[in-house]
Amino acid sequence: MINVTKTFLPPFEEYTAILKKAWDKAWITNNGELLLELEKKLKDYLSVDYLFYCNNGTLVLQMALKALGITKEVITTPFSYVATTNTILWEGCKPVFVDIDPHTFCIDAYKIEAAITENTQAILATHVYGIPCDVEKIQAIAEKHNLKVIYDGAHAFGSQYKGKSLLSFGDISTCSFHATKVFHTVEGGCLICHDAELAEKMYFYRSFGHIGDDYYSVGINAKNSEFHAAMGLANLQHFNKIVLQRKAIAEYYDECLKGFPVARPKVTEDVTINYSYYPIVFDTEEQLLKTTTILKNHSIFPRRYFYPSLNTLPFITSKYSTPNSESISRRVLCLPLYYDLAKSDVDLIVELLFKSFNK
Ligand SMILES: *Cc1c(COP(=O)(O)O)cnc(C)c1O
Repeated sequence: MINVTKTFLPPFEEYTAILKKAWDKAWITNNGELLLELEKKLKDYLSVDYLFYCNNGTLVLQMALKALGITKEVITTPFSYVATTNTILWEGCKPVFVDIDPHTFCIDAYKIEAAITENTQAILATHVYGIPCDVEKIQAIAEKHNLKVIYDGAHAFGSQYKGKSLLSFGDISTCSFHATKVFHTVEGGCLICHDAELAEKMYFYRSFGHIGDDYYSVGINAKNSEFHAAMGLANLQHFNKIVLQRKAIAEYYDECLKGFPVARPKVTEDVTINYSYYPIVFDTEEQLLKTTTILKNHSIFPRRYFYPSLNTLPFITSKYSTPNSESISRRVLCLPLYYDLAKSDVDLIVELLFKSFNK
């Protein structure tokens, strides 16, 4: 069986050697030694000042909206994982969907201003597949209209724009370290911000709003454990190698698919991508379904990241016109891409793709 992804696991002894520190102290959660070490290493790796390692990539989005005081309209992308939209709704805000750029699949910054109303408070956009949103244009719009910017960087760990981590943009950036992501800690996520006041809020939010017997603010349980932090520390040592291997596989796909009638998102020269996904866009949904069936019959399971377009979710009641997102989401398929995907597996996938077009 070949799935769209396969979780990278470090050698077992490497993991247990790291975990042993926590084990010996019998201190396995609540800001343990391994968590603090992971946070420090992530901050160094990403060159950011404030980073909070948390228990997933969804709660950190909720914390971001809450900390910035967002209660009304949030301009967002319809082309993302459902968590992006869900967090807006969960926090009692209204998602306002703006269509995506057909080349980057990220929110089309040139269409944002037309969606701003007197109730707009924030922009929450996703760096889809680790491809940057137009961070400069979005920043300019936010400054002009006094809006907060949050990036869902769940796919963006390891991606850079103009030599800076993609996770360093916006008022807040979040990331997911779920087992399906390019860098993972089993379950996990982080939140990055840039000023001390906001960071203090996050510190309290993450663990019930109190330290010992002193209660400071409302809070939630977004802490993560030493078992998870140990996985992060182990995987971080392998991360560069993982990305290079994924790059080699992605480039092999590129070579095999040259001249084949599927489109790929476009990345500009100033972007360093993390090869977190390998999306292809078919001309028609019919062809996508045909190909998917043939692959499934050979136990190969690509995924429709992302389908459906989030503005068409059954619990979204307002109508939005997002033709690019609706069209691409019906026709996009992520092919298997992971560290130990064999060249022969890519050959088989490509062969079946070719076949599915000729039937
Ligand atoms: C995975 C993902 C999330 C949610 O992260 P979890 O760690 O699974 O909660 C949010 N946004 C996007 C775009 C994702 O792909």
